[in-house]
Amino acid sequence: MPGTASAGLDQVHRAIDAAIADLDEPLRALSLDLHGHPELALAEHRSAGLLRDWLAGRGFRVRAPVAGLDTAFVADYGHGTPVIAYLLEYDALPGVGHGCGHNLIAAGGLGAATALRMALPEPPGTLRVIGTPGEEGAGGKIIELEAGVFDDVDAALMFHPGDRTMPIRHALASMPMTFEFHGVAAHAAGSPDQGRSALAAMIQLFVSVDALRQFLPEVSRVHGVILDGGLASNVIPDYTRASFQVRAVTSELLADHVDRVEACARAAALATGTTVDITRSHVYAERKNNHAIAYRVAQYLAELGEEVEEPVLRGGTGSSDIGNVSLRLPAIHPYLKIMERGTPSHSHVMAQAAAGLDAHRATLRMAAALAKAGADLFGDGALLEAARQEFAVSGPDLPE
Ligand SMILES: [Zn+2]
Repeated sequence: MPGTASAGLDQVHRAIDAAIADLDEPLRALSLDLHGHPELALAEHRSAGLLRDWLAGRGFRVRAPVAGLDTAFVADYGHGTPVIAYLLEYDALPGVGHGCGHNLIAAGGLGAATALRMALPEPPGTLRVIGTPGEEGAGGKIIELEAGVFDDVDAALMFHPGDRTMPIRHALASMPMTFEFHGVAAHAAGSPDQGRSALAAMIQLFVSVDALRQFLPEVSRVHGVILDGGLASNVIPDYTRASFQVRAVTSELLADHVDRVEACARAAALATGTTVDITRSHVYAERKNNHAIAYRVAQYLAELGEEVEEPVLRGGTGSSDIGNVSLRLPAIHPYLKIMERGTPSHSHVMAQAAAGLDAHRATLRMAAALAKAGADLFGDGALLEAARQEFAVSGPDLPE
């Protein structure tokens, strides 16, 4: 009897709104606590501890560490299938703290799971929270995927703060890479002929990448910083190190770009009489948004007064390890406006916005919308079935 089911769901949705109102202050305190103590990828010990304590104190069975990562965790409430998971991120960035607003991702995901647990004290399945550390470069979700953490998950829900609210967006496939050049140290004035400069090689790498860039597709990206550039101007540097990211619209195209960037590094070593060590990290995959779930969340956001914009699938954008999850199971990663349109992410301005009251209020709306979609996935077989069918036939969202 669909009428009865939806009447029941209406009641659950109202209970979620009430629960979110009750959680307002504790979630605000938690979000500010995370924001005030930013921790870098895979070093989020304090942050992960706060989140685990919150969940354990509200009846979730917490397991940690998982996947060999000290700051990863899994928290379950209820038993059996389906398994509906909320994903939390809580790592910060060097130099700009929570300039990507992951404190809000953690607080909002926690709010959604807690409200759903309060509104559905006996869920017909497992309500799961997965702590996914190291989104910024370390690929925490990729490591968890490989360790089987997502094997029994039916749907994965999270969101990301930004400069507009959108149900979906494309993301570039990306690979973090490290280049280390080894040369020979010598006096830069007395005996330069005895030296081989690891810095000259590094400069050559950057120049070659600039030359390569004009022959890459418009949306592809290659960007790097020098982390070690030598120690003194009168010593020819025998060691330099750079961190790069290479990005493209698909993992397949990315593989081509990575090979070509590597060739630039090998050529630089050859030209300067140095050697190079190249480290390839995880591939962050392109994103396959589950539209059925994402647009259900958007509907609930709009009902709560949030202005939801149609996504624009154009141009370059960031990358995230949710992409890898999204190719394996139905997953969503909608965006939530917390700052003025056009404000760049990974900035001091975004870090400031992520501590603001407006951002917190928007996060509460997102938490409620995510919780209601979770209630539908548990209670209304139609949504989970639609999500599964879409997943079986759809591909990633790519820019025009
Ligand atoms: Zn982020």
